[in-house]
Amino acid sequence: VKTLVLFSGGLDSAVVLASCVAAGDEVLAVGFDYGQPHAIELDRAAFIARGMNVPYEEVELPAMPLADDVVFAGRNMVMAAAAISIAHARGFDRIALGCNADDHRRFRDCRRDFWSAMRRAARAYDVGISAPLLRSSKRAIVRRAKALGVPVEQTWSCYEPRGGEPCGECLACKLRKAALCS
Ligand SMILES: [Zn+2]
Repeated sequence: VKTLVLFSGGLDSAVVLASCVAAGDEVLAVGFDYGQPHAIELDRAAFIARGMNVPYEEVELPAMPLADDVVFAGRNMVMAAAAISIAHARGFDRIALGCNADDHRRFRDCRRDFWSAMRRAARAYDVGISAPLLRSSKRAIVRRAKALGVPVEQTWSCYEPRGGEPCGECLACKLRKAALCS
């Protein structure tokens, strides 16, 4: 199976990437630059992919608008559409991504009905969508990360890094801390 993994350098997508590698997929990791202030995550993504011996490519997208102070409007939808385009053009069987249960409330494009619709759209391009963490909590994802040998400490979550360090206060930092400490 040829799988294109949407890889942000964060914990969730690192687990998806490691799962695909463990399953023996032929994997390409793709990181998206959409003007995020936390572009540092892309350096981590490249680094972690190298450590897993997975090829990594960076794709530039138009800068995405913020819907509120945290949420880029339709970020996952736009990245998935770009990934489906690449997968279709380059003969990948599927794309894989790390949306999870703890993101449902805030992010519309992390909800299960959204991905059912997206799967139907992707089918028109002969591309499957794997979203194996859609029902997983952050705590379950941390357990899975440890079982798969994911270098958790190298992953990046923070939305608002200060001087190259995680802020410890943003939504992503809080979710990460809660999951790692529980
Ligand atoms: Zn933070």
